[in-house]
Amino acid sequence: MIAGIKTAIDLATSIKNITDDIELKAKTSELYNSIISLQNGIMSMQAENHSLLQENHSMSKKLMEIETWENEKSKYSLLEICSQVFVYARNQTDGSTEPSHWLCAKCYNQGIKSILQLKNQSVSGYYYICHSCNSEIRDYSKKKDMDIIVRRNQRGAW
Ligand SMILES: [Zn+2]
Repeated sequence: MIAGIKTAIDLATSIKNITDDIELKAKTSELYNSIISLQNGIMSMQAENHSLLQENHSMSKKLMEIETWENEKSKYSLLEICSQVFVYARNQTDGSTEPSHWLCAKCYNQGIKSILQLKNQSVSGYYYICHSCNSEIRDYSKKKDMDIIVRRNQRGAW
């Protein structure tokens, strides 16, 4: 590009000293081609510049999302709710007024904040679902009150 500019300047400088019409036409044509070449170079640089600006914007946005997630994820700690069943639980140490909740460990490790929702409860435990990845988590340490079920069955038997 810089070499092209120098060529155009050299041509323009040489043209003013030319007295011969044929030579003048040839040099003018050469200068014209040189200017067209420079124009194409500028357009190419503009397109490249536009692409770099878009990439920069996209990277800045991605960086901001990562920083936001890094801040958010530090508010949670890995918790074993029952043997070999893990979730991320909101730390209760930062004075948050958010209700206690758990995040899906799979989504957490992919940079997604997905709150586990109670799906149902049974004698085998409480079932939670992640609506982001559809994972189901069973907390078998908490079971639906067996006494109520036993009493209901006994009443049905009478
Ligand atoms: Zn999930």
